[in-house]
Amino acid sequence: MKNKRILISGAGIGGLTAALCLIQRGFDVLVLEQAPELKSLGAGLQLSPNATRVLAGLGLSAELERVTIKPGGKCIRLWNTGQEWKLFDLGAESLDRYGYPYMMLYRPDLHAILMRALIERAPHAFRLGAKVIDVGQTDDEVHVQLQNGERIVGDVLIGADGVHSVTRERLIAQDHPSFSGCIAWRGAIPIESLPASMQGPAGVNWIGPGAHIVHYPVHGGKLVSFTGIVESSAWVRESWTEQGSIEECLQDFNGWHPDVHALIRQLGTPLRWAMMLRHPLTNWTNGRVSLLGDAAHPTLPFLAQGAGMAIEDGCVLARAFQEYGDTPEYALQVYQASRIERTTQIVIGSAANTKRFHNRELADAAGANAYVAREWEESTVRARYEWLFSYEPENVPLQQPDKARAA
Ligand SMILES: Cc1cc2nc3c(=O)[nH]c(=O)nc-3n(C[C@H](O)[C@H](O)[C@H](O)COP(=O)(O)OP(=O)(O)OC[C@H]3O[C@@H](n4cnc5c(N)ncnc54)[C@H](O)[C@@H]3O)c2cc1C
Repeated sequence: MKNKRILISGAGIGGLTAALCLIQRGFDVLVLEQAPELKSLGAGLQLSPNATRVLAGLGLSAELERVTIKPGGKCIRLWNTGQEWKLFDLGAESLDRYGYPYMMLYRPDLHAILMRALIERAPHAFRLGAKVIDVGQTDDEVHVQLQNGERIVGDVLIGADGVHSVTRERLIAQDHPSFSGCIAWRGAIPIESLPASMQGPAGVNWIGPGAHIVHYPVHGGKLVSFTGIVESSAWVRESWTEQGSIEECLQDFNGWHPDVHALIRQLGTPLRWAMMLRHPLTNWTNGRVSLLGDAAHPTLPFLAQGAGMAIEDGCVLARAFQEYGDTPEYALQVYQASRIERTTQIVIGSAANTKRFHNRELADAAGANAYVAREWEESTVRARYEWLFSYEPENVPLQQPDKARAA
């Protein structure tokens, strides 16, 4: 199999990680990315140790440390009074318990690090301006049709082409999203534009009835990533680049604490995203074609595991090929069987977490105290996240497809 070619559609976080993990094991990979040039896109991403251990295994720790700061823990704050509760320590504790750090990253930084590593390690394994518009397969090969008219043939195709995956649409399943009832405001804020009290290294979750906000320092502590999720019937597109205005964002957080308004006022041009719900797929593999990352298991972000899952996928996919690469169709079945239970639980758990962040009991301070004591007490939160953070993609047993079906 090592002399055969694995095509990957999409050079996002998942596609690049998969390519690097496969190249590390000696496979021939070609990544096709639709974007004509590399641009800084996106705001913040959080990666817990289940994902950072994969990046460490790719030799990227030193570069990642240069663009992150040691996280100062996670706290929650109440929407109107600003009352604060400590949630858990993200810094030393993550290293002690899991051996790998929790990282708060600016997506363009992570993307650039992965991209640089790929270009250094396999300069011919990557093409920009290669938008895949159709995909197909025979018993012996896969083929993709690019928008520029070119046809590329390989032995396997991995659709890492994100939430609107063409690969999924053509060969696996039609997309049937429904509006979740929430929209997300996103942006990155220069940290020096905020009051000194808001320049600390902690990740902060503001919780309130019908909305919540997550912000944390990224880009070596120079920027603060802001995501504000609000229940809304106003329809916007599911797009990473749709723009809104500061006035609209302020309106959505009317009555919230002055610190929240201080953040929003510095957002520049905030981006907004309609959050869509999708039932987890029960199958994402067809012959020599499979999916990875958001293409396979798009999720709401309420467990902060979207990028982490894509990274885990890349590692497990490469291990399946290392073990069963002589029979690529079987290797893809092993990959899916090894991943589907966990990713399904994360997608379902993320949707369920919406209520936890937006609960109506948070409306007044007395209700909020009782609610936080019940739902967000430190040991309760730790238990809730343990199964996510303790997963080891490089060590989990690979599942045989038949066993997974029987389970
Ligand atoms: C522009 C952008 C900004 C984002 N910003 C944030 C953010 O601020 N916060 C956050 O939590 N998450 C963000 N995400 C999503 C986050 O990166 C993913 O949820 C997660 O990392 C899973 O990664 P993925 O590789 O599966 O998908 P993605 O990271 O979405 O990558 C998919 C890649 O496939 C490419 N692609 C799509 N269709 C085709 C095609 N037909 N042919 C070839 N290439 C194709 C896309 O251009 C993209 O590079 C963003 C994603 C994108 C694309």
